[in-house]
Amino acid sequence: WSSQDYPWTKKLEANNKKVFGNHSFRPNQREVINATMSGCDVFVLMPTGGGKSLTYQLPALICPGITLVISPLVSLIQDQIMHLLQANIPATYLSASMEWNEQQEILRELSSDYCKYKLLYVTPEKVAKSDVLLRHLESLHAREALARIVIDEAHCVSQWGHDFRPDYQGLGILKRKFPNTPVLALTATATASVKEDVVQALGLVNCIVFRQSFNRPNLRYSVIPKTKKCLDDIDNFIRENHFDECGIIYCLSRLDCEKVAEKLQECGHKAAFYHGSMDPAQRASIQTQWSKDEINIICATVAFGMGINKPDVRFVIHHSLPKSIEGYHQECGRAGRDGQHSSCVLYYSYSDYIRVKHMISQGVVEPSPLASNYSRPSNGNSGRILETNTENLLRMLSYCENDVDCRRLLQLVHFGERFQSINCRKTCDNCLKVQNFVEKDVTEMAKQLVDLVKLSGQKFSSSHLLEVYRGSLSQFVKKHRHDTLSLHGAGKHVAKGEASRVLRHLITEDFLVEEVNESKVYHLFGGGQIIKLRFPSSAKVYKPSRSEATPAKG
Ligand code: ADP
Ligand code: ZN
Repeated sequence: WSSQDYPWTKKLEANNKKVFGNHSFRPNQREVINATMSGCDVFVLMPTGGGKSLTYQLPALICPGITLVISPLVSLIQDQIMHLLQANIPATYLSASMEWNEQQEILRELSSDYCKYKLLYVTPEKVAKSDVLLRHLESLHAREALARIVIDEAHCVSQWGHDFRPDYQGLGILKRKFPNTPVLALTATATASVKEDVVQALGLVNCIVFRQSFNRPNLRYSVIPKTKKCLDDIDNFIRENHFDECGIIYCLSRLDCEKVAEKLQECGHKAAFYHGSMDPAQRASIQTQWSKDEINIICATVAFGMGINKPDVRFVIHHSLPKSIEGYHQECGRAGRDGQHSSCVLYYSYSDYIRVKHMISQGVVEPSPLASNYSRPSNGNSGRILETNTENLLRMLSYCENDVDCRRLLQLVHFGERFQSINCRKTCDNCLKVQNFVEKDVTEMAKQLVDLVKLSGQKFSSSHLLEVYRGSLSQFVKKHRHDTLSLHGAGKHVAKGEASRVLRHLITEDFLVEEVNESKVYHLFGGGQIIKLRFPSSAKVYKPSRSEATPAKG
């Protein structure tokens, strides 16, 4: 697909320069354009900022007819259209929020033989709910004026993804109605199962898949234990490494955003908060100040970031556990678009896991701006979606609990990519630690811990069970007479860190489930499974720093 001998190549290159002002193509752009212009169905996985828009806007410009673009958010659509109009490319959109008159005018234009628009953007619910739109598309198609159908943020189709939107599932109708019109599906996040789901739901045939590595070599990853002093740690981290530079701090709740922003302001940083309950004018004003560098640090929920294209974001901090690895990767991806070194620091505590898990089950987590409000129990799909969200969170927990393997490797493996940790070049906390490992068979300990969960009636938190296991005689232990259990003190010679590591391992591997204030046995190891874990022979605390930290001898 990389040939430069297609009939359209000259026109393509000329317009890329003249209209879009680009001197060349970015990786895979030319290939995707050639494939879609040859009439194939195409699926594109390209990291945020990779240049997906060009792969349909350029064909739209040089092909006869109109390109239909399905995009999840009106704000994103408006932003795109503004850019297209600035480049003199006629584009418009239809949304339910528009005046009836205005919609009629656009529909009239679509039925004209000399329709001036090259691109028509719609939200997915418009396709699902508007027969009028479908009739107009049929008429365009009959006149051979429907050039191409583009599905932006295509991962929203999949229930396995982190941005599921029921309206996207109805988009299969497009391929059924217009089987010969090429479909171009675009996304910045997709695991193999999400991709399969999308291809199936959209009914893509013999679809050509382009994917490039999701590795972002200029980002440095670290996971840091979150303590009560977390906010001081964040302040110090920024002061030492990124003073007066731009960054985003992702927080779990709206209240957290406000608290973190307030603290950072007190410490003299130019910080502000941003979340879903602010009105659109307030949010727009924050965004403007941020793009003008009047504000350096935004403390935000996941509502912040979509369509934001600031190249010099030097750090992304997660104040709480992200809800999925996909989400985490995408949020970190907003740092370092200019290719310069940037830091991604995650403050992790196991109690945040319990908190997020609880919030997910209650449906009170602020949904990603792409996803509809799916986690509410009233949704008919909630069972399956709750399961997906819980599973995604568990993978994230496992990522944080892992203090051995390369962070880059862990992320890329999740996306089905191969990666060798040597290529991380010590740009993650785990690779930076000079570690000698001892591998220990912890099967016996694991069995004891599972038995202890059963013995204590599956009603106690993991931290309490660890206390019992290590022989604590605290009042709480005595009150529940757990000092009389046969396994009380069975692990009194085991280091606390080791015992908790084993217990967490049992949780991330689904042997045990911990609900808020309740642990219960999920299932036991089948057929005498042996569990081995690696432990660093000398634990070291990694402190991220701009100047390459000199790792102490292990
Ligand atoms: P994505 O949708 O993949 O996140 P965009 O389509 O928004 O990325 O593109 C990100 C930025 O890269 C935009 O500012 C765009 O103008 C720029 N860009 C895209 N393609 C090229 C190119 N071939 N050369 C230079 N800049 C490009
Ligand atoms: Zn690494």
